[in-house]
Amino acid sequence: MLEYYGRECWLKLPGCTKVATTKDHINPHTHGGSDRLENFRPACHRCNSKRQERKVGNQVRIITGPPAAGKSTYIKEHAYPNDVVVDLDRIAKALMPDPEDAKLQTYPDHIRHVAIGARQAAISRATRLRENVGIWIIHSVPSPDQLEEYKRMGWQIIPIDPGERVVRDRIANQRSSSMHDVADRWYDKPSSGESSPLIEPSRDWGIA
Ligand SMILES: [Zn+2]
Repeated sequence: MLEYYGRECWLKLPGCTKVATTKDHINPHTHGGSDRLENFRPACHRCNSKRQERKVGNQVRIITGPPAAGKSTYIKEHAYPNDVVVDLDRIAKALMPDPEDAKLQTYPDHIRHVAIGARQAAISRATRLRENVGIWIIHSVPSPDQLEEYKRMGWQIIPIDPGERVVRDRIANQRSSSMHDVADRWYDKPSSGESSPLIEPSRDWGIA
């Protein structure tokens, strides 16, 4: 495998030592992964053990898409009752004195700051659960780097987008105009390096 793929760690998670010393199963045994060459990649010891911890069984899905696309609805329709949903909007609302008053989806910066920390903690714990549950993470507009990391972790990326006209109408009808900025990022530069202001800007999104 090292002859075929080279000695460089393919996972490159935070803390990577770059030099591959282990075999990483792309699709782990517990998920029916094979022992054939195409299911292996070289990985450094640190990345491999990090990934293993988080792969202990539960499927992680990242739901992306512009604001008002129906991401929460999609999760409601597809999640099992015991699944875990990590949604920064909802975390931020829960941190405000009157959550009902937070309909506009614009929170003060300090609330967002606290919510991002809570979100990281939630992802970190959720991905280590021993219970067999699905994990759903809403991340509206991930940067290309974040997307790559999600893919390396073996997490499924599910884009939800009913089309720009529908989204713009919904935002105009019922949400704050600042949601248009996030929609701009999704439609103008869906693969730009920028993160949505509503989401975690740092690449260190969950490894404790
Ligand atoms: Zn590594």
